[in-house]
Amino acid sequence: MSEDDQDEGLLVALSAHPLQRVGAYALAALARTTTPEGLSAEGFRDAVGTITEHAITAALVRDTKSERGFWLKASLSFFPNSKMNHHTNARREDEEIRAAVRLWRREPEYGARPGVACVLCGRAAVGFFGKVDVPLAESDLYRNNTPRGHLGMALCWPCLCSFYALPYGCRLTGGPSIALHSWDERFMARTVSRRVERNRQLIALGLPDSRAIRAKEVVALQALRDHEDRLTAGVELLVFSNNNRGQTLEIQSMDQPLAEWLRRSARQPSRRRGFPALLRAHSTPDRPGVVNLARNAFRSPELIAGACARYLAKRLDQGVVGADAADLAELSFSLVTEVMRMNQNEVDEIRSAGAQVAAWLAAENSAGKLREFNATLKEQKRMRHWLMRRNIDTLLAPVPGVDGPLITDDQFRLLFDPEVEQAWFHRQLLVVSVVRRLHELGFTPADRAQVAADLAAEDNDEDVAFMKGEES
Ligand SMILES: [Zn+2]
Repeated sequence: MSEDDQDEGLLVALSAHPLQRVGAYALAALARTTTPEGLSAEGFRDAVGTITEHAITAALVRDTKSERGFWLKASLSFFPNSKMNHHTNARREDEEIRAAVRLWRREPEYGARPGVACVLCGRAAVGFFGKVDVPLAESDLYRNNTPRGHLGMALCWPCLCSFYALPYGCRLTGGPSIALHSWDERFMARTVSRRVERNRQLIALGLPDSRAIRAKEVVALQALRDHEDRLTAGVELLVFSNNNRGQTLEIQSMDQPLAEWLRRSARQPSRRRGFPALLRAHSTPDRPGVVNLARNAFRSPELIAGACARYLAKRLDQGVVGADAADLAELSFSLVTEVMRMNQNEVDEIRSAGAQVAAWLAAENSAGKLREFNATLKEQKRMRHWLMRRNIDTLLAPVPGVDGPLITDDQFRLLFDPEVEQAWFHRQLLVVSVVRRLHELGFTPADRAQVAADLAAEDNDEDVAFMKGEES
């Protein structure tokens, strides 16, 4: 083989395997290159050299419980029974361990290759690899071995090394690891390189990340909020372990519109303003808002809209329409149009009905009347009656600020027609519109409740820490 051919064999290709892709980006980042395709043969050799040296350093610690044993401990979830963490290392000499790890991580000789294609990228494989080298992510039934008569996955050298580099692209916990994947290549490049930047030091030193993980889903939320560019694809959260005690893989997905909406919540000034209220809306006595928000994001955008509506209803019940509620109302509208893809005409109709109701309430200038309206949300018959009643009143005796009927036939249909599938949701949205408009009108009735002036004092400490930019 010529030298050029050899170098050709060191080029990293992106496959369809999410974990190989995370590892390939990690290799690129370790070589200070943006993309795996841009990684030179030399950069590849250097990156592989670095991770081998780190593996040796960890192996020489021998004890996973020692002060610098974090990477050794974490390696059990990636490369169990490997030369790096083999139980016999305790009684071996340093030199012996060094040689064994190097041998394990060395590119197989040309003559020893099996003559088959890599299952991931189709280039010539250098061997078959099982659980010691690759998280197989199969069920517990197959753990600790590959099925009888099966040699493992045929992999080429760069694909195999992508798996060796995988830990650098993950949030390491010591137990199951958290990886974030997307088909948006720019997102992958930025997110993995940030992670590698931090991990290369922690892994070299064998120290755990001092920052606690609030929930695995929050790792994804943080990454989305850190990303500068528009997302072109959704994200997947992979939580996996290759450990002998239980081989697991759990995947959660978030579609592009919601991922992009969450990203923008950190970027656009008006949405940034609404974010603290979004966290407050999700906060429960047992969990910070950021955890509930991140979990809801992987389950359904409807759950986020529901939490916002409940929070706004609670504030209305106090007869108070503050800036935080108005900002959250604005954020709710963007969720409804960008993520839930509600018809824009219908949104506009509900917004204008909300503006009329708000004008009527502002003219009354009474927190009691606002509470009364808010309470109708619980029962559609009552809301229907309330709106019909006020409609007639305003037609008989015009109210300043209210133009024409309080509510039109079309709007009425959107809110109450049994044929309209989302009518209940439209009613929630009506309340959101009322909040938004009342704030614009400067609604401050004399009989409003004495509410803690400083909402921030009610914030959950962990949410405050998250907003300050502390990670996951
Ligand atoms: Zn390959």
